[in-house]
Amino acid sequence: MTHWPSIVVATPAHSGVGALLSYRSESALAPGTLVRVPLGAREVLGIVWADETAPPEGLAPEQARNVAAVLDGLAPLNARWRQLVQFAARYYQRSLGEVALAALPPTLRDLDNTQLARRLKRQAKAAAIGTAPASAADTAPPPSDEQAAALAALAGADRPALLFGATGSGKTEVYLRATERALAADPAAQVLVMVPEINLTPQLEARFRARFEPRHGEGVVVAMHSGMTPPQRLAAWLAAHSGSARIVLGTRLAVFASLPGLRLIVVDEEHDPSYKSQDGARYSARDLAVYRAKLESEALATAAPDAGAGPASAPAGAAGCQVVLGSATPSLESWHAAEQGRYLRLAMPARIGGGALPRLRLVDMNHQPKGATLAPPLLAAMQERIARGEQCLVLLNRRGYAPVLACDACAWKSQCPHCSAFRVFHKLDRTLRCHHCGFTSRVPRACPDCGNLDIAPIGRGTEQIEEQLAGLLVDARRPDGGPARVARMDADTTRLKGSLEAQLAALHSGEVDVLVGTQMIAKGHDFRRITLVASLNADAALFASDYRAPERLFALLMQAGGRAGRDARHSGVSEMWVQTWHPEHPLFAALKTHDYPAFAAEQLAEREMAGMPPHGYQALLRADARTQAAAQAFLNGAAQQAAGLPHRDDVTLYPAVPLTIQRVANVERAQLLVEAASRAALQRFLSAWQPVLLACRTLPEARGLVRFAVDVDPLAI
Ligand SMILES: [Zn+2]
Ligand SMILES: [Zn+2]
Repeated sequence: MTHWPSIVVATPAHSGVGALLSYRSESALAPGTLVRVPLGAREVLGIVWADETAPPEGLAPEQARNVAAVLDGLAPLNARWRQLVQFAARYYQRSLGEVALAALPPTLRDLDNTQLARRLKRQAKAAAIGTAPASAADTAPPPSDEQAAALAALAGADRPALLFGATGSGKTEVYLRATERALAADPAAQVLVMVPEINLTPQLEARFRARFEPRHGEGVVVAMHSGMTPPQRLAAWLAAHSGSARIVLGTRLAVFASLPGLRLIVVDEEHDPSYKSQDGARYSARDLAVYRAKLESEALATAAPDAGAGPASAPAGAAGCQVVLGSATPSLESWHAAEQGRYLRLAMPARIGGGALPRLRLVDMNHQPKGATLAPPLLAAMQERIARGEQCLVLLNRRGYAPVLACDACAWKSQCPHCSAFRVFHKLDRTLRCHHCGFTSRVPRACPDCGNLDIAPIGRGTEQIEEQLAGLLVDARRPDGGPARVARMDADTTRLKGSLEAQLAALHSGEVDVLVGTQMIAKGHDFRRITLVASLNADAALFASDYRAPERLFALLMQAGGRAGRDARHSGVSEMWVQTWHPEHPLFAALKTHDYPAFAAEQLAEREMAGMPPHGYQALLRADARTQAAAQAFLNGAAQQAAGLPHRDDVTLYPAVPLTIQRVANVERAQLLVEAASRAALQRFLSAWQPVLLACRTLPEARGLVRFAVDVDPLAI
């Protein structure tokens, strides 16, 4: 009997309908089956979405092409996975084909059955070796009272849980034990643990391996992130899809991993902006994780009666798939959900070992010597630490030596010829580099415009702070009499493979006394000997036009401060120094008492008044074009043509505006804000608007439009 499966293939972002194509097959194909199908002159990877026994209306049987091959040996992608992908495509306004195929490892697209069979054989072999448990040694410390209470509450949770734990409160141990429990409850259970950036938290992966490999064998944990080679990614994906990997530890892309036995999702540092994708489908992996857990739970609830297994007295939450969002400074969206009772809040305010959080020292820059990069009291405090053999972290959110190079005699500045931004002066290799498009050139010997030899750096970046600190601390001595060692860690020093690990190791072993760096150094590291953290230019975020800037600054400073005094012996003396021209700002008052709830309450009240998220819902329509006029014409045209659309009155459309950095790599950028009072209203309007957007691409005044994108729930406006 002939079948007419509809199949999803990779389609361009905005192809709208047509993501599902009808093919012909002589046998039934289960939904979720991976196939190879002809598309134009090529043969591509596809996913069977539905099987039909009659040809679709309007398709003459002889027009349909045959499915070329079925990928043998792979179980179909299950219904929950397909629902997740379909939801993501619809919610983030992209084509199903784009989202579904991008969720699979790239290598899978190019494999024929022979190659796939070889990979599967290798994977099965690895899994067989991996499942041989080495020993059952349990080296886990007993949980603290707070950890035990959080775990007990989690066991019966019927909602997403927000684990609100101070830095150093031992959230990881809760993740480990919750994972342990999930794996023990069901021999097929799988756990997804998401982290913002896996390279910055090698300790987390090490702890998961140390805890589970002895009991479950080497293949129990697989990593999934964009830094892996394509063959590594495929191997990890196959291990997860086959169920041989019980724990997937990954970055945002791991939210789409095929995990047939998924029972627990952990989203660590759930507030981190890197969970939101910034290109392609601009999805939030945190939000999709919550949705995915709900899908899995619903499926399990429906399946439970037929399965007939499991004690009837099992707690409500244990039967489903749980999701735990962890943070010391939750996103205001998650915090608000917990305040409303939609999320279960689990609080762990105490640090393990009873250490105190660092004391906040605000340095009023109005009262410091003019032009001082580092206030004298801060410098003195650093010298003291060095003398005691302790370490300092100095945070500056700007890499390079100086953000601008300028001529004294004329108006020349190191403008990037391709962007509306300055090229940054990097002194070490004497280059001017654009951090937006990558354009790099040698530093000119003289002003390119007037020939003046005095071209000077303006402002300071991490390279310069490192250089200045080395000079300012030249007389500082360590307990062994040696000079202070200053190092730097940012995207420039960690570019080479392995260099980040080497730098972290140097810091851990005490070979560095002062580490200067960007926010990279504020993330998850567990440094024992750091007792002073200093933030040099926090003020920019206080008055930024982006309404989320204070939230991010608060999280960054809490997180950075959390690096200090993690060893209880030092916690009494640990300090967080912040240089500011506005010490009276209310953000600092909340920071001083480590009072995230107070800060969140104040921010949420402000957002409620302004109708901002989470008290309102937003989307951005972004346009890139050859000219700013074309970009704006597309946006404003799309807004005008929305008139009369269903649900148009439920949203507010603002006029198109250029982006803060208007031009990048010779492309002009503009955006238009859409606001609605409810998520459903916003979604309804966006769906109705999609065909209008496609039509507006050909407006004569939008000639030169390069691309457009809809960003739902944008993180920056
Ligand atoms: Zn000049
Ligand atoms: Zn540039």
